[in-house]
Amino acid sequence: DTIGANLDRAVASWPDREALVDVPSGRRWTYAQFGADVDELAYALLASGVAKGDRVGIWAVNCPEWVLVQYATARIGAIMVNINPAYRTHEVEYVLNQAGISLLFASLAHKTSDYRAMVEEVRGRCPQLRETVFIGDPGWDALIARGTPVPFEELSCDDPINIQYTSGTTGFPKGATLSHHNILNNGYFVGEMIAYTEQDRICIPVPFYHCFGMVMGNLAATSHGACMVIPAPSFDPKATLEAVQQERCTSLYGVPTMFIAELNLPDFATYDLSSLRTGIMAGSPCPVEVMKRVVGEMNMAEVSICYGMTETSPVSTQTRRDDDLEHRTGTVGRVLPHVEVKVVDPAGVTQPRGVAGELCTRGYSVMLGYWNEPEKTAEAVDAGRWMHTGDLAVMREDGYVEIVGRIKDMIIRGGENIYPREIEEFLYAHPKIADVQVVGVPHERYGEEVLACVIARDPADPPTLEDVQAFCEGRLAHYKVPSRLQVLESFPMTVSGKVRKIELRQTYAAG
Ligand code: ATP
Ligand code: MG
Repeated sequence: DTIGANLDRAVASWPDREALVDVPSGRRWTYAQFGADVDELAYALLASGVAKGDRVGIWAVNCPEWVLVQYATARIGAIMVNINPAYRTHEVEYVLNQAGISLLFASLAHKTSDYRAMVEEVRGRCPQLRETVFIGDPGWDALIARGTPVPFEELSCDDPINIQYTSGTTGFPKGATLSHHNILNNGYFVGEMIAYTEQDRICIPVPFYHCFGMVMGNLAATSHGACMVIPAPSFDPKATLEAVQQERCTSLYGVPTMFIAELNLPDFATYDLSSLRTGIMAGSPCPVEVMKRVVGEMNMAEVSICYGMTETSPVSTQTRRDDDLEHRTGTVGRVLPHVEVKVVDPAGVTQPRGVAGELCTRGYSVMLGYWNEPEKTAEAVDAGRWMHTGDLAVMREDGYVEIVGRIKDMIIRGGENIYPREIEEFLYAHPKIADVQVVGVPHERYGEEVLACVIARDPADPPTLEDVQAFCEGRLAHYKVPSRLQVLESFPMTVSGKVRKIELRQTYAAG
């Protein structure tokens, strides 16, 4: 199916069910209204000269129009380019030119970001950009008014319809080109594993610009008739829990840091979360302690862990509803239907079960390629169509996959390989530590040493290096015990909610 055809089916099956709710503005759409508004916007795009294959940018925080643009561009076969709402002029100019965007949708302003002013600044340096439409501006209505109903062109589900950028956790973000087939199937299967139906209401505080929001959120919802609930334009822990309570959401999404922020709200216990049954935690390793609290205190007994990457549409493995807590915390679940995985050593030889190596994935979900970067594509996707993920993993005897960490994050201290995640998991249990990130920093004698960056539970009483070392004494091998400690108020983050370890490494490289 194409995304447009799939939406038609949802509209026909569940016309009166709610499709989309924007909590901040109180606006609501049934599937019938949503389908009609998508078509109206699609006609307007056609009337504005947007043709199949043209790139349409969206540089906006979460709002209902974001979702309308997603489906309207897919409907006519235009390629939507997701632009990180945290970008500033330099980066947006790069994306506008690299992807050759002709029409741009943008937020007007959000917090300290004045998108209109930034677009003004770069417009002259982006020759292909013909028009910018600001969301919430009269220009949006003027655009809609241009459209007249016409029959939509027949599309192929293998056509590219989206350029999604990676989070930029390890360097400059890369633009993955994806087809209807790639992301619609992935959203559908993710929803199947969670058993979504038209009864479900999904609270989506993760950004739409990233695959977590637009595929695992929006496409999983519309392919099952579920409702997308937008709690706020950008992540806000209070607004998220308020939206769950007010809209009686059954599912809640987040990266681990978002769940941590929600659980740590001073008034956490006052929210009624009894409507929740499930949700997705993904994007980075999920600490056992956090998972226990999500299951126990947030009522999300069936919460699912997903593992994946933008380049693979994104999800490759997922825990199932009936997995026990051990599998839900110790692994990232089993491979999704129609996806293959293998674990290889540096020479490309497949490793036996139980042995760590680089995870490779193959199947319908592997991207068409990085946009306009054939060399980078060839580095990531080999001749056999295997995507090399850059993640170290173990395939267990029982078929569950464990993620050991990113190859780039591994610390090598005096010839010993150290996986930051193991130490992080251990330090989460320290009573004075609210959050922790472990990185390798240069050391004269050992090559690298272990630095623990921590956020204190009580800022007035932070842990000391001695506290941390005493805690590890006798319980972690000596070479894994942090030799340096930095107490921070927050970590440098990507907009998709990941800690930029590369920045911690650079900032604290010198002792
Ligand atoms: P960049 O590629 O730009 O450096 P990124 O890899 O963080 O950024 P994404 O595509 O958003 O960009 O994220 C994919 C990566 O996130 C995976 O390669 C993996 O390292 C990590 N990841 C995703 N899900 C999980 C998970 N459940 N557990 C551990 N790590 C995960
Ligand atoms: Mg990556």
